[in-house]
Amino acid sequence: MQALHPLPPDVENALEAVVGSNGLITDPVRLLAYESDALTTTRGTPRAVLLPESRQELIEVVRVLHSAGLPFVPRGAGTGLSGGAVAHDTVILTTTRLDRILRIDPEDRTALLEPGVVTAQISIAAAPYGLRYLPDPASATACTIGGNVAMNSGGPHCLKHGVTSDHVLGLEILLPDGTTTWLGRGADGGLDLAGLFIGSEGTIGIISSVLVGLSPLATETRALLGLFDGVGAAGAAVSEVFERGLVPVALELIDQATIRLVEASVFAVGLPTDVAAALVIECEGDPEDVEADLEIAAAACREHGAQEVRIARDETERLAIWQARKKAYGVLGRAAPDVFVQDAVVPRTELERLLPEIERIARGHGLRLANFFHAGDGNLHPNLMFDRRDAAEVQRVEQAGSEIMRLCVDAGGTITGEHGVGSDKVRYMPLMFGLDELDVMNRLHEAFDPDGSANPGKVLPAASSQEPE
Ligand SMILES: Cc1cc2nc3c(=O)[nH]c(=O)nc-3n(C[C@H](O)[C@H](O)[C@H](O)COP(=O)(O)OP(=O)(O)OC[C@H]3O[C@@H](n4cnc5c(N)ncnc54)[C@H](O)[C@@H]3O)c2cc1C
Repeated sequence: MQALHPLPPDVENALEAVVGSNGLITDPVRLLAYESDALTTTRGTPRAVLLPESRQELIEVVRVLHSAGLPFVPRGAGTGLSGGAVAHDTVILTTTRLDRILRIDPEDRTALLEPGVVTAQISIAAAPYGLRYLPDPASATACTIGGNVAMNSGGPHCLKHGVTSDHVLGLEILLPDGTTTWLGRGADGGLDLAGLFIGSEGTIGIISSVLVGLSPLATETRALLGLFDGVGAAGAAVSEVFERGLVPVALELIDQATIRLVEASVFAVGLPTDVAAALVIECEGDPEDVEADLEIAAAACREHGAQEVRIARDETERLAIWQARKKAYGVLGRAAPDVFVQDAVVPRTELERLLPEIERIARGHGLRLANFFHAGDGNLHPNLMFDRRDAAEVQRVEQAGSEIMRLCVDAGGTITGEHGVGSDKVRYMPLMFGLDELDVMNRLHEAFDPDGSANPGKVLPAASSQEPE
């Protein structure tokens, strides 16, 4: 097996001189591990993978690539779900060995991090000071803070706590020509250039360190589980929660297919498998406020016909309620070898109508669907299960995914909530943005990356494909 397009020997030697043989992968078999991120439908073979171990190595590697005119794809843990960290005949620059927590300042409530720090580690390191890092992507035990910043990641508790951009105070970035600079949030009177980088998906440079804000640990956290006979009714209860003036810290929906898969697995927690959908609603704060908030949430569920509302009596029950949601993605592997997850956001008030519609689309294409998502944000994640060795089934998945996306955009939604555009959704950008808007984005991009060296082909469609499909 051969790499599609090996590096020129002089470039390979120069890169190896920086990172050592241990930090450079060119063996085609080892490159297979980098063929995709967690969206396995989008694949590409990198020419090489580089694993710098220090900031200095990272800078030198980018400078060697720049001199050689070679584009690169920044990569963290590769848990992305839009094909963003996939290299199509380019070099992957991965930050997983840059995983040091450089400083925790309990007084300022900040943490300075290398980009490869695994997200969950931040709260673990901050806990002895009574602090935590709030954004909590469901992949937090694997994904990196650099990836989170690049994708502006959310998570179940971002409903109330805000997404990554709400907690980043500054960034050191490395432009594709090797220039390094610190970007703040504009609080000092400058421009919020860090804000520009957050969510740019590696297309204007690589993040080399991140300063995040930390928050106090919660006084009390409690959860309830609402069980529904219809997925539309569960969707209606989501809107009702907000109409009653409550913003829970998390409001997640899990459908029957997901519950059945969890209950058939080692993660089973005894959820009824005959319900159409369950809502997980979590509230945080002082004990009396939490009690009152849970009552509001329970009333909203009952108003829309919840057959049962279970309020967790203790931490063990709360964790059991979360188990089905947290293990959901992993258990999909029991149903099929591959999964395609869509990530549209729709107005919450449309959930009641759209959820049965999405089920209808999947059924119409003969596909198995499991739905579990950040319902409070209207951030849908329909998971279509398939086997990528079956070309016809892959085509049906593509078609169903596209129909679901159009349905959501037509309902006033967006093409991504948190998984980003990557390679997968470039084709949908013209559904959301007009030529003028895409032109402004391209001009901004060119100011930072005139040669198109950083993560080429991602996010911004080529000029030739900017008309809506
Ligand atoms: C089971 C599961 C659950 C998930 N749950 C959530 C969720 O709740 N919320 C959510 O938002 N996402 C979720 N995701 C998606 C994914 O985990 C996030 O997008 C995450 O931020 C990706 O981090 P990563 O380190 O794996 O980045 P990668 O996948 O390696 O890269 C993602 C993107 O970031 C760029 N990038 C990575 N590092 C850098 C850097 N240092 N500088 C510049 N660009 C960089 C890459 O080029 C790529 O475009 C989930 C994924 C899985 C598999």
